[in-house]
Amino acid sequence: MAQRNTWQRDRVRSALGDAQGFVSAQDLHASLREDNTGIGLATVYRALAALAANGEADQLQSPEGEAIYRACASEGHHHHLICRSCGTTVEIQAHDVETWAQRTAATHGFTQAEHVVDIFGLCAACTARNRVPH
Ligand SMILES: [Zn+2]
Ligand SMILES: [Zn+2]
Ligand SMILES: [Zn+2]
Repeated sequence: MAQRNTWQRDRVRSALGDAQGFVSAQDLHASLREDNTGIGLATVYRALAALAANGEADQLQSPEGEAIYRACASEGHHHHLICRSCGTTVEIQAHDVETWAQRTAATHGFTQAEHVVDIFGLCAACTARNRVPH
């Protein structure tokens, strides 16, 4: 059963790898449809969830509350700077955040603390474009 959809998951994985920055399931479904793969939206959702669970993709929540995904260049724990206009993503280490999160959790008696910290904004190129008067 799990094996049957392997080629579809491979197609979703490669489409995710080709995408710039973070994309939603709808975005990927649209690009797969252009290639006439016949892969349905529900399959795209399942494939993305499986890739995120395997650690092959990053899953984030966009500011609009939508799940968005990216094939990740970095392994292990890291954070992202994401341009909300063009989707450019920078993978960042945030040592201050690690220290703060551990200390804050410990202060409240929490152990095995995890966190998700991603920064959404406008990248340098989009900021420069915004400054140009129309
Ligand atoms: Zn990442
Ligand atoms: Zn940008
Ligand atoms: Zn962290």
